[in-house]
Amino acid sequence: MSLRRLLSSSRGQFALLLSLAWGTIAPFAVAQDNRAPSDPPDGFVALAPVMRGWGIKAQRMSVEGAQTFANAWNTLEMQHDSREFYFNGLRIFMGEGAVAHGGELWASRIDVQKLLRPLLRPQEFAQEAQPVRRIMIDAGHGGKDRGTFSDPLALSEKQVALDVALRLEAILTQQGFEVEQIRTDDVFVEKGQRALMAQLAKADLFVSIHFNAAGNPNARGTETYVLTPARQRSTGDASTPIAELGTESGNATDAWNVVLGAEVHRALINRMGTVDRGLKRARFAVLRLAKMPAILIEAGFLSHEEEAREIASPSRRGEIAEAMANGIVAYANQVQAFQSTP
Ligand SMILES: [Zn+2]
Repeated sequence: MSLRRLLSSSRGQFALLLSLAWGTIAPFAVAQDNRAPSDPPDGFVALAPVMRGWGIKAQRMSVEGAQTFANAWNTLEMQHDSREFYFNGLRIFMGEGAVAHGGELWASRIDVQKLLRPLLRPQEFAQEAQPVRRIMIDAGHGGKDRGTFSDPLALSEKQVALDVALRLEAILTQQGFEVEQIRTDDVFVEKGQRALMAQLAKADLFVSIHFNAAGNPNARGTETYVLTPARQRSTGDASTPIAELGTESGNATDAWNVVLGAEVHRALINRMGTVDRGLKRARFAVLRLAKMPAILIEAGFLSHEEEAREIASPSRRGEIAEAMANGIVAYANQVQAFQSTP
């Protein structure tokens, strides 16, 4: 990675020297295309001035292309050629990798507007904030759809997701929220139907609970998903040309999805101490169709022997529900604070 940056920066210097030399020989030449090979990709913006406008100072970029942006409250650690960054220690994925250019990091304009701004400047979205009174909890899968499965423990995702959903309801109800459930027993509900149910219930939040599985038996940890914004690739997609994503829309609650996702993901990682797989983007049906801020949580891997054993324990599932509730309360308090300030 450092070699790549070195090459691109020396290419930039070479282009600069060339253009200076050219200027002395042919002062009247009109440049047709003066893009240096190391120009940042279209749609990217330098992060330092953006951050400065938000009261966050850019530190010098390292030789390896790492750059930190920090003030007294927030620290962002970014890396050239990487979609992931750390926000106060929490792992978060951008739609596009950061790019080193001219000695500093640049990020896609969409990531700045749809991810960094909501995370760092939620107050700018206060007008779109919906106070949280009613929460729709969506226990994933159910009935004929058992979801993922742990063979050694004879444990299915639909079972544990429902158990966590019911525990979460109990905690949130105690906290004074109105809670609705997509399902309270082992029934099958279509994905599109789930989003519609949340809308009909006039829910202010949608929280979908899932457990993960992977072919790699070592895969473990917690990941939280929010809807991919328009004209971006989802986290699991590194190759679809952006032009082909043109019609894939985000939604009206893009900013608050991110704030909610970050609060709940942070609460889960802090409480459970699991591997932080990151706050990610996906166009899952329930996220795409939800009209209110929505997240989908993959709380752990049933395909990981040790993690599955933990998930099989009722006390662990109680912790998962508590962590989710803590994140939701933190989010609700944030929104509430913006409501009361004029
Ligand atoms: Zn699932």
